[in-house]
Amino acid sequence: MTSIALIMAMDEEASPIVKALSLEPKGYLCPPLPMCLYQGEWHGKQISLVVSGKCKRYGVDHIGPQGATVSALKTIEVLSPSIIINAGTAGGFVKAGAAIGDVYLSFPYVCFHDRRVALPGFDRYGVGEYTCMDTRELASKLNLKLGVITTGSSLDITDSDISIMNSYNGIVKEMEAAAIAWVAEMYQVPFMAIKSITDLVDTETPTEEEFLKNLSLASEKLSKEVIKLLGEV
Ligand code: SAH
Repeated sequence: MTSIALIMAMDEEASPIVKALSLEPKGYLCPPLPMCLYQGEWHGKQISLVVSGKCKRYGVDHIGPQGATVSALKTIEVLSPSIIINAGTAGGFVKAGAAIGDVYLSFPYVCFHDRRVALPGFDRYGVGEYTCMDTRELASKLNLKLGVITTGSSLDITDSDISIMNSYNGIVKEMEAAAIAWVAEMYQVPFMAIKSITDLVDTETPTEEEFLKNLSLASEKLSKEVIKLLGEV
């Protein structure tokens, strides 16, 4: 049976998918780590959803590249999935035609936008272009947008982030995809990301305000599209 792992950062992003697919909570993926596992069978496929879990010290979800890296590593070690899909929310750009609730698939790669190392070789390593599955047919079939998704450790954006995103044609900004893709590439597990837009980066409204206002809508939209996607992979 095809085994698909969905890796997600926040409980609030994941809960509509857990509900829609009636996934069963299985507790911690790999104690004492905080990642939580939900599993179920859906249309003949084994679906495992791993959420990064809560930080004991600060009481919030383990968002960002560190949680995502550990989550991807343990997901592969424990579950040996045939495909990894990183689903979540992200910032989009009006200049690239994005609107709140739009859903993007990664293509042709994901990369980092905030790892600057001005040394030969390490400059490209820092950005890290990790190839994704070819999602072009899926995007046209499911009527989803397509583009380079870039990852960093911050919710806000700096001039340097913008310039790196521009050089690598990045049009979707978030905090996990490239970290997960890096691990998936080392284990040769096919990877793609699907991201629903909660905020528009190139507008006047502060990102955090827009994010919180649209998180629930974008997560519902994400859930609908993830379920359609699972029918096709
Ligand atoms: N304060 C928020 C935390 C959200 S952090 C809360 O606790 O509710 C942002 C999360 O959403 C990350 O997992 C990231 O991948 C995604 N995200 C959405 N919009 C983003 C943006 N504009 N930039 C970076 N990450 C974004």
